[in-house]
Amino acid sequence: MTHARYPEALTAPVFQQIGQIADRKGVQAYVIGGYVRDYFLHRPVTDIDVVVVGSGIDIAKTLGRELKTHVAVFKNFGTAMLHCGEWEVEFVGARKESYRADSRKPIVEDGTLEDDQLRRDFTINAMAFSLNEKTFGELLDPFNGQEDLERCIIRTPCDGDTTFSDDPLRMIRAIRFAAQLGFDIEDETFEAIRRNAARIEIVSMERIMIELNKIMLSPAPSLGFYLLENSGLLPLFFPELSALKGVEKIGNRAHKDNFDHTLKVLDNVARKSDNLWLRWAALLHDIGKPRTKAYDPRIGWTFHGHEVVGSKMIPALFRRLKLPMNEHMKYVQKLVFLHLRPIVLSEDEVTDSAVRRLLFEAGDDIDDLMSLCEADITSANDAKVKRFLANFELVRRKLREIEEKDRIRNFQPPIGGELIMQTYGLKPCREVGLIKDAIKEAILEGEISNDFEQAYALMEKLAAGYGLTKITS
Ligand code: ATP
Repeated sequence: MTHARYPEALTAPVFQQIGQIADRKGVQAYVIGGYVRDYFLHRPVTDIDVVVVGSGIDIAKTLGRELKTHVAVFKNFGTAMLHCGEWEVEFVGARKESYRADSRKPIVEDGTLEDDQLRRDFTINAMAFSLNEKTFGELLDPFNGQEDLERCIIRTPCDGDTTFSDDPLRMIRAIRFAAQLGFDIEDETFEAIRRNAARIEIVSMERIMIELNKIMLSPAPSLGFYLLENSGLLPLFFPELSALKGVEKIGNRAHKDNFDHTLKVLDNVARKSDNLWLRWAALLHDIGKPRTKAYDPRIGWTFHGHEVVGSKMIPALFRRLKLPMNEHMKYVQKLVFLHLRPIVLSEDEVTDSAVRRLLFEAGDDIDDLMSLCEADITSANDAKVKRFLANFELVRRKLREIEEKDRIRNFQPPIGGELIMQTYGLKPCREVGLIKDAIKEAILEGEISNDFEQAYALMEKLAAGYGLTKITS
């Protein structure tokens, strides 16, 4: 069989060098997987995966010596990794592996290139270019990955049940590639995902989140979430999100489907921003709705307090999903909590003190909050959309004016507890807290301006009211 050759795909000198080492050692070496796929898709790549029919570690060590660079060896996995300029090169021996139904640990044996290709997840990820000199650049594509790339199809190299039960994460990877590349999952492959969905429970949440975050960062994340829901995977690892689905009707009153709405908001945000955590805030902004849903015969369906309930759900949700419990979690929690405030602001007369309060609470995240609120407008009624957007424009203008005037964004009240305690010779006590809060409130309400002298005068007045006297004059 003759193979098409693509030496032009392998212009980085490291490829020839690997081929020469493999020739000297009498083994075959190939670049496989994402590099080959992304070459054909004209996508940028920085990772090179090399598979050796023999010892990958041995070739990596020799290359490391020649390049005078450190080689990280993972003996247990039979892999090795080194950096070469901009490239991260990973070496592995060709493997044949099978999994037992009750275990995540595969039984691994040495195998041929084809064995190795067969255990790859998808045909588009199973293509390899030869690196040995005589066959340099030959494409080895036993499962027609190239054709699937052209047809924009995700398909498993062997039967889907085997691929997915061997490593159930591959089900989510299929959806991740579909979302990232805008591909379709071939019918049989998708049916196999449905049949094997329950197996996802043996996969660690950390691995699932790596894929989910790639779905989140894809151009239209809703594609991925609909596939996750339709395959039956979503309720198994993210039931809170699935719970948004559905419409209830009493008489002729129905509420909107909050799952569809959420995904529209997520796509709207994704069109404007690459910020992963802003996208998470969009995904979770209405997460409290199922728990607050009620029906009032006079006004219809209500979700009172869903922003409070939703924001309270965030820490436990992040913990379970193994997302970081750091400032990113706090940011998402804050945006979920505040996501109705600009609406309230725009509906009432926009008062300075309400704007100041919002600026104070949102701080530097105010622009992201406004982006989220604008994305939250998913009405099909154009006139309504225009009116809401115009209202938010007004809020944005007001925010800018007040910020310029009062610099509230990163506002720290000009008088803190330390100064109050020093001035009146106090230990931490109730009065200190009350005075401090009253100063902050007075500034936010606009009763005094955000400056030291006015705040000091107010402190003196309040302290006198509590019968406090200064220890220094
Ligand atoms: P990206 O760079 O976008 O993450 P990738 O395909 O390079 O995509 P990796 O996770 O680095 O993703 O995987 C590299 C290659 O290893 C894949 O192309 C595929 O051949 C193989 N692979 C990765 N994970 C699996 C898996 N769970 N099951 C089977 N093969 C896998």
